Amino acid sequence: MGLFFVIIMWNMERKKVEKLTFIVNTLILITVFGLMGFFYMIDVPFLVYFSIPTVCIYLIGYILISTRHLDIYVWMVYIWLTLYMGITTVCLGYDFGFHLYCMSMIPVMFVSEYLSYKLGDRSLKALPVCIAVCLVYLICTGYTSYNGPVYDVDKTAAGVFWNLNSIIVFGFLIYYTNWMIKLVINSENKLKEMAQVDNLTKLYNRHYMKEILNASESGDGRYLAIADIDHFKNINDTYGHNAGDLVLKKLALILKENFKGADICRWGGEEFLILESGNIESGKKHFEAFRDALKNTDFIYEDQKITVTITAGLSVREPGHSVDKWVQSADNKLYYGKEHGRDQIVI
Ligand code: GH3
Ligand code: MG
Ligand code: MG
Repeated sequence: MGLFFVIIMWNMERKKVEKLTFIVNTLILITVFGLMGFFYMIDVPFLVYFSIPTVCIYLIGYILISTRHLDIYVWMVYIWLTLYMGITTVCLGYDFGFHLYCMSMIPVMFVSEYLSYKLGDRSLKALPVCIAVCLVYLICTGYTSYNGPVYDVDKTAAGVFWNLNSIIVFGFLIYYTNWMIKLVINSENKLKEMAQVDNLTKLYNRHYMKEILNASESGDGRYLAIADIDHFKNINDTYGHNAGDLVLKKLALILKENFKGADICRWGGEEFLILESGNIESGKKHFEAFRDALKNTDFIYEDQKITVTITAGLSVREPGHSVDKWVQSADNKLYYGKEHGRDQIVI
C-alpha cells in the first residue's frame, strides 16, 4: 500500500510532496500497527517483534521527511518493504500474498531512476536493485515452497489477505503503467512539436518544411509561394518588437484560415513558405484574394492599428529542378515584387 502512495506523491509538485510523504508515512505506520495486531492474534511472535524495528524505521522516516532527505527516505522504505515482504513470506508462506508486492517494486525502481535522472542525479540505477528484489523474492518463495512456512498458522484469513494484496498490486500496476505510457506519449508529442513547429507562430519550421518539400515532386500539381511582410523592420522600429511578434502570430493565423489544407511554414524572420495544391494561375488568384483580405484585417497593438502588406513570389517545380532551385525561383519572383513597389503577387 505504501508504494502506491509513494508513486502518487512523485506526480505532484515538490512543495506538496513533503506534506503527502508525511501522510503516507503515517498510513504505513498505522498499517504496520494493524499487521502487528494481526500477527499477535495468529500467534506469530517473530513477526510481532519484527514490527518493532519496522515502527522505528517509519519513526526515523518522520525525521528524514522533516529534514528534507526524501531520497534517503524513499530508499529506506523500499529496502525495508522488500525485507518485510521476504520475512512475512518465509514466516507465513505465500498463501497470504505478501510476496506479490515484489512485482510492484519493479516499475517503482525504474521510475525512481527516471525521476532522479530528471532531477539531475544520474547515480541511481534501477537494474541492480530490481535484480536484488527478484533474488529476495526467489529465495523467500523457494524456501517456503521447499520447507513450508516457518509458522503453521490458521489460514482462514489467508484468502482475504491474498485477494486484498492482489487487488492492491494489480491496481498499482495498472495505474502505474498507464501513467508511464501517458508520460511517454506526452514527451514524444512535445519533442515532435519542438522538432517540427516554430515556437512563435506555431507554424511548421524551416527544417520540417524542407522535409515536406523534398518529398514533393515535379508535376504533382502543387506550387510553392514565399510571402514576405513589407517593411517589417519599420513595424518593429515604430511599434516595438512585441508589436512585430504580434503581427507575425496574427499573420500565421490568417494564413492558416485562408490556406486550409496547405503546408505552411515560417521560412525565416518575416517570411512564410506555403505549399499548396493547384496550378500557378489558381495560386495567383488565391494569393490576390489573400492580399485583399489582409487589407481588411485589423492588426491592433495597444490600440494602434498597424497596416500590414505582403509581397509573394509563386513557383512550380520544374522537371529536374532541385528543391533549392525551386525555392530560389520563388525567391527571385519575390525579389522582383520587392523591387517593383511591393504589396503584390508575382508569378
Ligand atoms: P522588405 O519589405 O524589403 O521585406 O523590408 P523588411 O523591413 O520587411 O525586411 P528586412 O529584412 O530589412 O527586415 C526584417 C526584420 O524582421 C528585421 C528583423 O529584426 C525582423 N525580425 C525577424 N524575426 C523577427 C521576430 O521574430 N520578431 C520580430 N518582432 N521581428 C523580427
Ligand atoms: Mg520583409
Ligand atoms: Mg525578409
